[in-house]
Amino acid sequence: MIVVVNKFLLAKGFKGISLWPFVIVKDESCKNDVILINHEKIHLQQQAELLVLVFYLWYGIEFLVRWFQLNNRKLAYCNISFEKEAYENELDIEYIKSRPRWNFMKYL
Ligand SMILES: [Zn+2]
Repeated sequence: MIVVVNKFLLAKGFKGISLWPFVIVKDESCKNDVILINHEKIHLQQQAELLVLVFYLWYGIEFLVRWFQLNNRKLAYCNISFEKEAYENELDIEYIKSRPRWNFMKYL
């Protein structure tokens, strides 16, 4: 994992994004945000499992499906299986070590 600071690559309201193998954060203080970094590490693992490109395709398609279902962009984002897994486990710093492979499927 390589953490890079670049506020221009992040959409408004976001502090970090994972673009395998990089985690891009808004500012220097975000580098020390253990929960944010753990959240992004979960995404890096999801991306590696889906050979990166499939992750981005799946993420985009699932976002559109959820947006159609829920008629709300923010709710759609929160209900993407990858985000549900990351948000639900971001406080568990040891989660990555014991996480079963493909565990995001549990959140579909
Ligand atoms: Zn996320």
